[in-house]
Amino acid sequence: CYSVMASPAFEADEVVGCVVIVVDVTEKEQRDRLRREFTSNVSHELKTPLTTIYGVSDMMAEGIVKPNDVKSFGKNIREESGRMIQLIDDIIQLSRLDEDAPLDDELPVDLFDTAHDVIDRLRDHAKERGISLYLDGESSVITGSPALCDEIIYNLCENAIKYNKENGSVTITVHDLREGTELIVEDTGIGIPYEYRNRVFERFFRVDKSHSQVVDGTGLGLSIVKHAVARMGGTIEVDSVEGAGTKMIIRFPRK
Ligand code: ADP
Repeated sequence: CYSVMASPAFEADEVVGCVVIVVDVTEKEQRDRLRREFTSNVSHELKTPLTTIYGVSDMMAEGIVKPNDVKSFGKNIREESGRMIQLIDDIIQLSRLDEDAPLDDELPVDLFDTAHDVIDRLRDHAKERGISLYLDGESSVITGSPALCDEIIYNLCENAIKYNKENGSVTITVHDLREGTELIVEDTGIGIPYEYRNRVFERFFRVDKSHSQVVDGTGLGLSIVKHAVARMGGTIEVDSVEGAGTKMIIRFPRK
């Protein structure tokens, strides 16, 4: 996509040439399109829970809710406002990651310890779903933000539990390699169709919207993970077989 500006060049009132400036605005166009899409997605995602909250509270205010139903109406409001809080938290996190400023808490972080900590926190949640969690590999230290490292591993592990099957498992492996640190979060879940393996990192993209409505989430988790990994100089890639499981592979080169 190009923007063209042309202006004639004169010499003693005679046109002797023409100055043409051609600017490649593809990137800007793309950025503008993504921004527009983002705003429209955010509005839609916020409006859905708000509409429910409005409807439910309206009925309560009009006094047409039976006393027996008050509790379930209250739960409905709590759930929908919880979704909104999660969504707003994710948006704030994404906009922080979009800034170019250097991370303000760069420290040595052992990803094996971080993964151990995340597994401890998610073990009960996984158990409720009949999922076993495992940790494999060895210590490996990178320079980065401890909070972001935690968020990356937590998000990936949470997804690996969420999109798993009954009695499935999640294994986090940390390898300390000569070229850097490799972190793999592998699950035995529903997998990601090949054609969507890159799209899952897009903001608000969810593979199966109907299934996703049952499964909690904002569609922003992997986008946050990808940004956070990039901010610390790493890369993320997906290896998945539909119906069999997913591997998220993160690599941080040695600095
Ligand atoms: P969310 O989980 O909130 O929907 P994410 O950005 O974390 O959003 O993930 C985007 C989509 O990628 C999910 O909706 C899901 O369809 C797919 N996905 C992510 N992780 C996995 C996984 N481990 N197995 C299968 N599908 C996954």
